[in-house]
Amino acid sequence: MSNRQMSPVRTRYAPSPTGPQHIGGIRSALFGWLFARHHGGQFILRIEDTDQKRSVPGSLEAILEAFEWLGLDIDEGPHVGGDYGPYIQSERLELYQAWAKRLVEQGHAYKCYASAEELAEMRAAGGGYDRRYRDLSPEQASKLEAQGKPYVIRFKMPLSGQTTGVDMIRGEVVFDNAQLQDAVILKSDGFPTYHLAHIVDDYHMKISHVTRAVEWLPSFPLHIRIWEALGWEKPQFAHLPVMLNPNGKGKLSKRKQQFAADGKSVPVLVHEFISAGYLPEAVLNFLTNIGWNFGDNREVFSTEDAIERFQLKDVNPANSAYPIAKLDWLNSQYIQTSAVDDLARRLKPVLEAAGFAVDDDLLRRVAPLLQARLKTLNDVVAMAGFFFADWETFQAPPAEILIKRKMDGVSTANVLRGAIPVLNALDEFDHETQHRAMATYAKDIGYKNGQVFGSLRAAVTGQRVSPPTFETMEILGRAETVRRIELAVQALSEPA
Ligand code: GLU
Repeated sequence: MSNRQMSPVRTRYAPSPTGPQHIGGIRSALFGWLFARHHGGQFILRIEDTDQKRSVPGSLEAILEAFEWLGLDIDEGPHVGGDYGPYIQSERLELYQAWAKRLVEQGHAYKCYASAEELAEMRAAGGGYDRRYRDLSPEQASKLEAQGKPYVIRFKMPLSGQTTGVDMIRGEVVFDNAQLQDAVILKSDGFPTYHLAHIVDDYHMKISHVTRAVEWLPSFPLHIRIWEALGWEKPQFAHLPVMLNPNGKGKLSKRKQQFAADGKSVPVLVHEFISAGYLPEAVLNFLTNIGWNFGDNREVFSTEDAIERFQLKDVNPANSAYPIAKLDWLNSQYIQTSAVDDLARRLKPVLEAAGFAVDDDLLRRVAPLLQARLKTLNDVVAMAGFFFADWETFQAPPAEILIKRKMDGVSTANVLRGAIPVLNALDEFDHETQHRAMATYAKDIGYKNGQVFGSLRAAVTGQRVSPPTFETMEILGRAETVRRIELAVQALSEPA
């Protein structure tokens, strides 16, 4: 295959396990995944839990569920293993400690004994860490060592000059070294920080392309210097644009619920997309369109087609507002083109969660009527829940639902009453026959189709909005249809 490279492409998603999966993380992961799949490479999951205070139990499960739901397969990770494990950073502490030690021995890093009080003083003085332990004499160093004081290990950034990074999306990025601090790479408890841990892992896990959020760009020069100090060949880097709040202001927030113009809450956690009734394919398509575009003015495309075209260099470097308003439209496109059985399979749990006992055959007959009408799977409840409610306890809706434009209770009752013998006389009860007969009936009695059909719709469904009336009546069957029309006539005839 032409798009396979000689050296394998390996990308990774390296989340910190801090709770439910946010869609921003998934979007970054998706771009790494698409790139790996495009090149026939591997996609790795690595859990970055070196900040133990922030770790939330259950996070790995949430990540795996999100990937499974979206259909993003993972080649190596804590749940499947692989040749370069363990894939959880807290299980690799010795490795980081060994490399930190090596950096100290080679003069690229140093032990810093600054106490909490010292650090607070430096902060109060308005500066960052003032490098006071960077250039100790061997005597000072061994004295401190002998005292057994706790220390962190800091990386020695060059004090002047520049560091140039190459980013696949942004090209060359030049940084002034003087702007950078001597970052902590190993904490006093023996845990590494992100800066060291991800480099040690990306190297040992043979990651070829580091795809991560643009928030990491300011630390890029530090990372380049660490790679170089360790003497390792660097992977390629792509700093991905992030999603902004729907109003374009500020990074899409994690915890605060955002509200779109229409007042609906905006889903940002993967489980919120699931519970709002979106299809995973639609969500993937939606996310792929943020910061990358397929070309040919195509907004709807399969994951396979996206894999075929996807290149990191084509990602737009600019952050963009979260285009949540497009999701309903995209979702409806996917619902329209789903296979009926597939759609039925997905609608069933939604109906069941709403308390309906679902008959599979009935659902398979109803599903095609819904395809052009649902924006989300959840819409099925309001649109077609009545099919799955107990038919025997069906009650006629209130008069204001039954009575259509320019009609009243008496005329509506008359129209409905008159339809019954016509429907009873039909040879077949399919929707086309009904439609023809009811159009003729409307004409005969001097009403508009909309008035007659609308009254029938309300009578048989109990609702203003429903799947097409005659298709609905065909599924309900003649006896049930007529019974419901009779109930409506009766309700309209009762004194108010
Ligand atoms: N653990 C880091 C984060 O969650 C990973 C960044 C990276 O991909 O290197 O932001």
